[in-house]
Amino acid sequence: VKTVAQLERVLAEQETGPWAPALLAELDELEQFPDDAVAVLDDSGLAGHYVLTPESDFRETVWLIRAIARRDLTVAIAHGKTFLGAAPVWVAGTAEQGKWLAARIRGGNAVCWALTERDHGSDLLAGEVTAVETEDGWRLDGEKWLINNATRARFACVFARTGDGGGRGFSLFLVDKERLSATTWEALPKVRTHGIRGADISGIAFHGAEVTAGALVGTAGDGVGIVLKSLQLTRIACGALSLGAADHALRLAKEFVGGRELYGRGLAQLPHVRRVLGQAATTALVAEAVSVLATRSVHALPGELSVTSAITKAYVPLIVQDMLASLAELLGARGFLTSLPGGGFAKLERDHRICGIFDGSTVVNRTALLNQMARLGRSLRRRKADEAGVRAASTLDAVRTAFDPSRLSLMSAGGCSVVQSLPGVVERVRAAGNPELTRLADLVLAGTLRLEEDLADFVAVAGGLPSSAFALAERYEKAYAAASCMLLWLNNSAGRAGPLWTEALWLRAGLTGILGISGDEVFDAMASVVLAWSAPEFSVLDGAV
Ligand SMILES: Cc1cc2nc3c(=O)[nH]c(=O)nc-3n(C[C@H](O)[C@H](O)[C@H](O)COP(=O)(O)OP(=O)(O)OC[C@H]3O[C@@H](n4cnc5c(N)ncnc54)[C@H](O)[C@@H]3O)c2cc1C
Repeated sequence: VKTVAQLERVLAEQETGPWAPALLAELDELEQFPDDAVAVLDDSGLAGHYVLTPESDFRETVWLIRAIARRDLTVAIAHGKTFLGAAPVWVAGTAEQGKWLAARIRGGNAVCWALTERDHGSDLLAGEVTAVETEDGWRLDGEKWLINNATRARFACVFARTGDGGGRGFSLFLVDKERLSATTWEALPKVRTHGIRGADISGIAFHGAEVTAGALVGTAGDGVGIVLKSLQLTRIACGALSLGAADHALRLAKEFVGGRELYGRGLAQLPHVRRVLGQAATTALVAEAVSVLATRSVHALPGELSVTSAITKAYVPLIVQDMLASLAELLGARGFLTSLPGGGFAKLERDHRICGIFDGSTVVNRTALLNQMARLGRSLRRRKADEAGVRAASTLDAVRTAFDPSRLSLMSAGGCSVVQSLPGVVERVRAAGNPELTRLADLVLAGTLRLEEDLADFVAVAGGLPSSAFALAERYEKAYAAASCMLLWLNNSAGRAGPLWTEALWLRAGLTGILGISGDEVFDAMASVVLAWSAPEFSVLDGAV
């Protein structure tokens, strides 16, 4: 498959087979891996999109993962994990390694990413798995645990201690399990989980496992930097899982609200119900706006991804999880059932919980953002931004710059151009002459100027940030979200009809939601948009709603 439409067709054809929602729900209850559903994806050639080359369009990869996620998060996470496992090779592998792995992935082999250990979650530098150099390669010892696909994947990208620890004391190895001597490794038992119950969440233990010198990814001692750069891509890709969950949840809520009567009238006519539905729809669009900007930034603003990826991974799963909670309340008993028609909500809500935990939890990503916050504050005060990069990231038909891993950087020297361009963006929004929109944009700008002041004295203290600092990170994420929505509206309105664009309905709803102010009218209008929506994804940008 090359496009989302093609993938949709493949999956729709399989809805009476391995992709039948009832079958996927049953496998979840039985805690069984959805082998056949994964096989359909393998046969479709989807895994080719997990290979990143200069020709790749990262947005395609993300949108395809979203298309799977809106049907079943377990399958999306199980299949998409190969992108996470392979990312270090696209970032730091040799051309030969890249070609070799690309062929294996296209051939249907899965790759897992083994970072975490039983006693060390987020704290990578505490990792105890070791790799010792031998005459013709490396010898691995120790255990990686809570690893998605550790048992089923042929390849494991393993983060191991190769020195005395510290920033230069770790390296990455692409381990081919089929080439290991059988007595030198073992797969650890599947761990039972609250959500994604059928997934292979297990681990791998090495007992003197020998790998060749060619297994090393990048140079020895570079593991931490490679992981951090790879996470800049994977954390943005993870946004697709939340967008898919939001699509799925909105569809279930729409069907429920549109079809149910209470007290002699349709549920869809109750103002409170409409408000919750409209707010949920707004959240989905804000999450999409952030994801679109971030995804396009992989091509257009690669040097700033240390900031962009942290914002995306902290903000998108969090607001979508909140949205799911509000829809659960709206669905009432139906949000709690697992077996009736329309009973898919409980599963997706459980499944989505992991999105805010793995690949760096919300707090870990906020810490990553706060570690850069002093510089972000200075850059915001200077108001300098990479205008061409921002334009390319926010204009949907802009020419795509080739993906170039050498432009990734551990710390963004230019800060965050999207947030830094906010004053000019608000100026352009004002010029559109919509009084309500101008009022909202001015509120966003006032909030950003207050944030700028509050960041003036910010210093990231080593060894534990004060809890108040996390509120600053959240405010910064919201500034990014508001700027993303405004930029997408400004740069893509031409030729688009209907009140969503011409009256800036989605943008007004988005800014109202981000600001957290009341907006009965605008959310009510968004409820009508959801109730009339029929496309697979709830996306204003591709004209789907
Ligand atoms: C279903 C599932 C699949 C997974 N798949 C993989 C995989 O494929 N590969 C892999 O390597 N790992 C995987 N993991 C592990 C996962 O990435 C870790 O669990 C995660 O990084 C968080 O670690 P932890 O929960 O052990 O928490 P810890 O890191 O031990 O943190 C404990 C608590 O402290 C908080 N905390 C951590 N750091 C900070 C900080 N700097 N400031 C303030 N608070 C902080 C955390 O938010 C958390 O609340 C998976 C886990 C699960 C549950």
